[in-house]
Amino acid sequence: MFKQDTIERFAEIETPFYYYNMDVLRQTLDACRDASSQYGFHVHYAMKANFNTKVVAAVQAYGFGADCVSGNEVKAAIEHGFDKSKVVFAGVGKSDKEINQALDADIFCFNVESIQELEIIDGLAKAKGKVAGVAIRINPNVDAHTHHFITTGLDENKFGINTWQLHDVVVMLRKCANLKFLGIHFHIGSQITDMEVYKNLCTRINEMQDWFENHGFAIKILNTGGGLGVDYHNPDGNTIPDFESYFKVFKKFLNVKPGQEVHFELGRALVAQSASLISRVLYVKIGQKKNFLILDAGMTELMRPMLYQAYHVIENLSQESRVKNQESRDKNQEEGDHSPLTTYHSPIKYDVVGPICESTDCFRKDVDLPESFRGDLIAVRTAGAYGEVMASNYNLRDAVKSVYSA
Ligand SMILES: *Cc1c(COP(=O)(O)O)cnc(C)c1O
Repeated sequence: MFKQDTIERFAEIETPFYYYNMDVLRQTLDACRDASSQYGFHVHYAMKANFNTKVVAAVQAYGFGADCVSGNEVKAAIEHGFDKSKVVFAGVGKSDKEINQALDADIFCFNVESIQELEIIDGLAKAKGKVAGVAIRINPNVDAHTHHFITTGLDENKFGINTWQLHDVVVMLRKCANLKFLGIHFHIGSQITDMEVYKNLCTRINEMQDWFENHGFAIKILNTGGGLGVDYHNPDGNTIPDFESYFKVFKKFLNVKPGQEVHFELGRALVAQSASLISRVLYVKIGQKKNFLILDAGMTELMRPMLYQAYHVIENLSQESRVKNQESRDKNQEEGDHSPLTTYHSPIKYDVVGPICESTDCFRKDVDLPESFRGDLIAVRTAGAYGEVMASNYNLRDAVKSVYSA
């Protein structure tokens, strides 16, 4: 929902751009901090969801840690002031250069995704005379019940170490003098809204920690990963994710032993609802079978619909102000003469598409919108996660801009 003065502000700005509502961001961060701190849980922000400087600075101010998936993210996290003792580094393909960067930065923990990677980190740490903290990323074979493009915790996924390899893991860990085993890590997918999934994950984590302890490895860190979903269908009615229920599941079902820490890596849930992509209608094509709204934003600004068939609410903001103006005219009219009130047009179905020379460059087909015109402002909602970070300059497009609320 945009206030009238915000829409008027947009009218002055060149499109397309991301609009960040910093109040929504702070309310979300408040809710997450309150819900996690009551159980003493540690939250790391998954930088890859959004590394816009202002967004990251706002998150960092809450004292969360950082979950990074590249050497540059590690570097950016430290530059943004994240405490190095709260920086973790995951990723199935960490290069030697990235591992060295992270060793130099003295980060807290590498979340290790293969046996070979253990050996490599050990060797690089040894060369520097350091000891690297490691957690084993285990692929628990838990179905995240999310879109198959964003599930990560099944045997068929490339991420993590499968449970049948754990014997070899402990053999390797015993050999690696420059590794310090800290615990176990999981991340089973993204946009998870079914709490049953997390309950199943807890069961697997409990089994896994028993397994390690039975093999003589004490566990300090239980890192459950991220993945909490947001409501892409109702950004105004359901803005803040249900952090209470989420953390409660872990409190209830995770077997946390004395001295252990429980870590979380949330990305999307913290930032998704704080931004919209704002664009203008360039052209309206009315056809016999299809109507198209051609926007000045496309997959180069927001790729989620094209990459994962993701759903975003699409709104015509100019129409919202036209209706308001019309309503106030109608009201004046009611008070005066008795001529008939205006009837509003019923929605039209449009395929809302971008300008990029690819057929997949479509935000959604058959979107019900009021009659729309060249120059109308269009908002694509819930675009704060995996939006701006995936922007590209394909077709030699301008870099996408960002605009912030106070
Ligand atoms: C992407 C990622 C996250 C964050 O996922 P969200 O769905 O945005 O919460 C957490 N941990 C790891 C290892 C990741 O790759």
